[in-house]
Order: sequence, then structure tokens, then C-alpha cells
Amino acid sequence: MAELNQAAGQKRTDVEIEKTIDTLVVGAGQAGVAMSEHLSKHGVPHLVLERKRIAEAWRTGRWDSLVANGPAWHDRFPGLEFDLDPEAFVTKEQVVAYFEAYAGKINAPIRTGVEVKKVVRNTDTSGFTVETSAGVIQAERVVVATGPFQRPVVPSIAPQEEKLIQIHSAEYRNPEQLPEGTVLVVGAGSSGVQIADELERAGKKVYLSVGPHDRPPRTYRNRDYCWWLGVFGEWDAEAPKAGKEHVTISVSGTRGGHTVDFRNLAHQGITLVGMTKRFNEGVAIFQPDLADNVARGDENYLSLLDAADSYVTRNGLDLPEEPEARKFLPDPKCLTHPLLELDLAEAGVTAIIWATGYSVDFSWLKVDTFDENGKPKHQRGVSSESGIYFLGLPWLSRRGSSFIWGVWHDAKHIADQIGIQSKYLAYRDPSQLKTETEREKNYGDAFPDSEVWKTGKPGETT
Ligand SMILES: Cc1cc2nc3c(=O)[nH]c(=O)nc-3n(C[C@H](O)[C@H](O)[C@H](O)COP(=O)(O)OP(=O)(O)OC[C@H]3O[C@@H](n4cnc5c(N)ncnc54)[C@H](O)[C@@H]3O)c2cc1C
Repeated sequence: MAELNQAAGQKRTDVEIEKTIDTLVVGAGQAGVAMSEHLSKHGVPHLVLERKRIAEAWRTGRWDSLVANGPAWHDRFPGLEFDLDPEAFVTKEQVVAYFEAYAGKINAPIRTGVEVKKVVRNTDTSGFTVETSAGVIQAERVVVATGPFQRPVVPSIAPQEEKLIQIHSAEYRNPEQLPEGTVLVVGAGSSGVQIADELERAGKKVYLSVGPHDRPPRTYRNRDYCWWLGVFGEWDAEAPKAGKEHVTISVSGTRGGHTVDFRNLAHQGITLVGMTKRFNEGVAIFQPDLADNVARGDENYLSLLDAADSYVTRNGLDLPEEPEARKFLPDPKCLTHPLLELDLAEAGVTAIIWATGYSVDFSWLKVDTFDENGKPKHQRGVSSESGIYFLGLPWLSRRGSSFIWGVWHDAKHIADQIGIQSKYLAYRDPSQLKTETEREKNYGDAFPDSEVWKTGKPGETT
């Protein structure tokens, strides 16, 4: 039998795994670990299969200097604190260590180095046949915890220039990885702004292509924005606000955490440009939307300050006023007179970093639960295909769903649903029960608090 929670770094292909399991969890990132905790609490026999290592995305899918976007007191599971200053922004290595420790603490039955290659529904019996790199498993249920950000997306406008180095933010590691010369960073969500900032500080000339974004203040009146969104109930919002469906969020925990401020980035030396529209014979063409995008980001920033001020007043909180948070730096020239075209060779651009987000990949999941756009059909992670569950997807149930603190709560809901289903399926009618003990166990297990069901004669007690 393969070792549980196999040590990091050991990629095993000779793993022996169970042949049947009640619930199979695919993926051992934060979602898979949270799922295991809640399934164990429900006594549901389960197995977590991870193709690489626990928290692999945090190990190899991020750049070297990445720290969490939220402070340590916030970006964690309820059951374990980081052994660090709670206000600190933990490094990606500390996130990995945290989830490894967590998996150990809850004794999660994780097998690493096993890839799930195909899941199909059985036709002559219940459950699913699961093909893995270590053999075939029969599972009654499958929880898909393979991550919100699986496949890096590079838009089709990317130029076919052989001389240019083009990488996605998922492949970016550090400034030394890039050739000499100027860099165009496309996308100004948390990844794009942090990478552009790092490159500029390393001495590179940088152009940053800025689309629509929200940019909450890092802190206001002595509270991190994670706290403000929490007290406003915004992490629990069930859907993005109208018009905000495609708006990214620009935040940063680097250098102890700071507000993302596009004027400041420009004064620092980065040239801001609007959305990248297309490339034409070595010339990048930008939308004339930079000022609008920055202005809407400012509106979002100021609306959080306004909401925070009224929250403080309404609740009589003793939090210091911070009028200077409303003062903006003067508009830089690149904002007042934005570039609409950039000749890449003339500007010395040798690399483009596409910080343009991710999509999902469910090609291995051969079940009938996807809409015409390939999106999973589900309600709070319980899919329309009975026995298939999704976890960790953006907005699965709420805004927090794809983040560390949110996925734990979604996992709890899914485990509750699996628990309820298991109890119904364990029910046997009286003709199927041979002994009194079986009978008591049957009704008692299904509805432990109900005297009605323990007697097996509901009518008598009503
Ligand atoms: C740059 C960046 C920074 C982020 N920073 C933060 C932050 O500071 N705070 C925060 O709360 N969130 C952050 N997030 C968002 C989110 O927390 C992470 O993306 C997190 O990794 C998601 O966890 P997950 O378990 O859902 O998915 P993943 O971490 O992607 O885990 C999925 C796992 O499934 C495995 N897998 C996939 N397919 C298969 C298969 N077929 N068989 C077996 N295994 C499989 C993968 O190897 C992987 O280990 C960040 C995201 C990015 C991209």
C-alpha cells in the first residue's frame, strides 16, 4: 500500500491504490485537503488522488517572490493558524508547508503522484469507473477539486514574432529569467501589477497594459481590506455585481502589503497603456480606455472608503480617521496622453508577459454535467449529475469560493450533502431487514435524533 501523505518531491508511478472507494477526491490543493477534513468528520470513506504533490500549484505554478494576497490571520483554514505574525503576508513556501501540515494534522488519505485520467458513469451499477495512472477504481462519488486556475490563457491576439519571448504569468519566475530589454506586461490584476512592479524594480523598462479592475485599499483606518470585505458581507456575495463579471482585482501583499496605485507605478517608471487590442507587423495597438479603467478603479477604491466610513459611524467603532487616503498623486503623462501604439522593436521590447488569467480543464471528466459553454452545471458544488461534485471554482457558491478561507466552507457544504445522500442510500425498508438490530441500526443511523424512525412505526407517535 502506498504511503499516505507521501513526502514532498517524491513522484511515484508505482503506487498501489484501493480498488473501490465511497468518495474519490481529485486534487490535493487546499480544496482537496478541506474536502478530506469534512468527509472524515462525516465518517465518509474517501481517498484523495493528487497527480503531483500536495499544494502543487503553490510550489510550481507561481513566481518566486509571491506572497499571499491576504494577511496570515485571514488566508487560512479555521482549524490551524500560521505560526507567524498574523498580520504578515506568508510566502508561497509557507502556504505549501501549511497545507502539508494540515493534511498531516487531519490524517488525510492522500495519494500523491497519481493522476486521474478518466471518469465515466457506470451503466449497470451505481457510481463511476475511474481510470488513474495507478489503475482503475470504482467510486460511488467523485469530488472534482482540480483548481480554479488550471490552464493558462493567452489570448489569440498574441503576435507570432519568433524573436519575442512570450510567457504566461504562470511561467514567470523572476526578472533574471527574461532577456535583456523592455517588457510588455498584459493584464493588471494582482499578478500583472505585482510582476510589472518587480520587473521595474529590477531595472527593466516596463509597459503595463491596464484593463478594468477593482483596487481596494490594502488598509484603511487600521483594517486590512480583507476585514472590510468580511464585515460588509462581501466575501459571501453569491454573484458578482452587475457589470463586474469580468473585472479583476488588483491587490498586493508584497513588501509588507500596499495598496495597488497605478499613478504611483507610473511615477515609479512604468508606462501604463490601455487594454491591448491587437498586434500589427510588430506594432502593439492599445484601446483608448486607460483613463476610464483607472478612473473606475479609483471609484471602486473610494467606494470602499465611503462604505468603511459609514460602517464606522453606524457602529460607533474606535478606528482612526485617515483623510490622506483620499489624496491621489497627480496624473502621470502616460495617463493624460496615453500611447495608442507601440513599435515593439523601437521600444526595445524583447518579452511579453501575459497575465491574462486561466481556464479550467475537465476533459477527463466524461459525465453529463456541462452546459453548452463547457461550464459545470451545479448548485453550490452539487452537480446536476448525481454523485459528481465540484469544489474550489470561482464563485462556486460565493465570492470567497476559490480562496483559501472560502473553499473550506464550500467543502463543508458538499460533505454535508454527501452525508445526507449516503444516509438515504443506506436506508432499507422493513422487508429488507432481517433482525431487530439491523432494523434499529438502519433507522437509527439514518435519522439518529428521531424516536419516530427508531420505532419504525411513524403513525403511532404522531
Ligand atoms: C498567482 C496566484 C496567487 C494567489 N494568491 C492567493 C492568496 O493569496 N490567497 C488566496 O486565498 N488565494 C490565492 N489564490 C487563489 C487560490 O487560492 C489558488 O489558486 C489555489 O491554488 C486554489 O486551490 P485549489 O485546491 O482549488 O486548486 P489547486 O491549488 O490548483 O489544486 C488542484 C490540484 O489538483 C491536481 N490535479 C489537477 N488535475 C488532476 C488530475 N486529473 N488528477 C489528479 N490530480 C489533479 C493539481 O496537481 C493540483 O495540485 C491565488 C491564485 C493565483 C493564480
